[in-house]
Amino acid sequence: MTSIDTPMNQIDPEDLDLSRTSMQRLQCATRLLDGFHRGLFGFLHAPKRTISVSFPVEMDDGSVQVFEGFRVVHNRVLGPGKGGIRYHADLTVEEVKFLAAEMTWKCALVDIPFGGAKGGVVCDVKSLSEDELRRITRRYITELGDNIGPHSDIPAPDMYTNAQTMAWIYDTYDVMHPRRNNRPVVTGKPVELGGSLGRREATARGALYATQRFLDQTTLCSFQSLAGARVVVQGFGNVGAIAAQLFSEAGAIIVGVSDSQGGIYDEHGLDVEAVIEYKQIHRTVVGVPDTMSVTNEDLLELDCDVLIPAAQSNQIHKGNAARIKAKLVVEAANGPTTPGADAILFSNGVCLLPDILVNAGGVVVSYYEWVQNFENEQWELGVVNRKLKHKIHKAVDRVVDRWSRLSAETQHEPTVDANGEPCHCDPVDLRTAALVVSIEHLVKVTLARGIWP
Ligand code: NAD
Repeated sequence: MTSIDTPMNQIDPEDLDLSRTSMQRLQCATRLLDGFHRGLFGFLHAPKRTISVSFPVEMDDGSVQVFEGFRVVHNRVLGPGKGGIRYHADLTVEEVKFLAAEMTWKCALVDIPFGGAKGGVVCDVKSLSEDELRRITRRYITELGDNIGPHSDIPAPDMYTNAQTMAWIYDTYDVMHPRRNNRPVVTGKPVELGGSLGRREATARGALYATQRFLDQTTLCSFQSLAGARVVVQGFGNVGAIAAQLFSEAGAIIVGVSDSQGGIYDEHGLDVEAVIEYKQIHRTVVGVPDTMSVTNEDLLELDCDVLIPAAQSNQIHKGNAARIKAKLVVEAANGPTTPGADAILFSNGVCLLPDILVNAGGVVVSYYEWVQNFENEQWELGVVNRKLKHKIHKAVDRVVDRWSRLSAETQHEPTVDANGEPCHCDPVDLRTAALVVSIEHLVKVTLARGIWP
């Protein structure tokens, strides 16, 4: 396989700027809304609250290191803030703001009573021991204090955090707030600590339900079923590995997967269970016997039917979008595609199911966990999955319906912005349609509540 490295001059820094991406996408969606109250634009764009903390942690060797953390609540019109906590060495407050806004759109799209939030700590998990991670987590949550809570802001897992991290968050908060039921303060907990059955698989399962519904209900893609579809998954963590399992169980052939160390490829299909076992032992997928190694760049450009980015943001950008061969991109990660790439994929006829729809399964089952915690109940797995499927199917139908109507309208009338300038968001893609559905809902609720005072 030839390695086609992306020339540096093809990576446009503006295209990778997540604040710009947020702004641009919101502009496109609001311009398509009839009678949109322009005064609400700033309200929908700006995060409601941004907290930045730094705190010392004693390391295993006795030294003291200072860590930086963030928690952003983007919008609380629909309910308490809800969003994951990410641990990553390259995390920035701008990325956290982008991810918090994504949560607002996602909760509105699937119609659950949460606003958007996100948080994280700048740290390299791979270089830290379990004890160090526990101390970082406890100290970060202590610093956030009453800014999180079952009725104000509810964390969940994201990249490089997991059920164990959520258990430490719960325990820290519970020690700080004794004598009450604190379980709903965080979701994605271990099942024995009030976690919901099905939460661990929920994001990937939601991605599967969304893809199947989309293929069943539309003819936008050049194939109609996952049976025999060749699938490539970027990222082999909670979301990516389980997506590989579930898509394979649904009849797809997983031809390539990757993690931060690199990728592997087998044109006849990988044995997903064997790859999971190998990763547990070797901490990477690279080196699974009888597979071909590929770089992370090449993996995205493999010949396949479905590409599932399930790792970081900005993976498909202006520099590589023209070389994406997949017919359908299923965004399991948050923000994996840049606006520049969106336009190239669209003009090349590549269908794209947007992140706020595809990965909403995680927050939907987090919502179910929160409800179960208040009721001190544990729902059966079948109940959780049935409810999840219903929510995701309804959201897909809403997006496809809105997309059809917007496409018909914009064919006749080019959209214009507030100054009468032509809008550069045509033609309308599924991402814009999904955002329009979310914003319509948010605007309705905002206006019904009224602007305080
Ligand atoms: P994770 O930490 O469990 O796994 C991340 C995986 O990505 C790891 O295998 C890592 O090695 C790999 N990776 C990192 N950088 C990579 C790169 N450059 N190329 C290829 N692989 C790379 O994280 P996760 O929970 O699976 O989250 C993955 C994505 O899904 C993130 O964008 C996250 O925001 C999104 N998401 C997660 C959830 C959830 O419930 N966990 C919900 C919604 C969205």
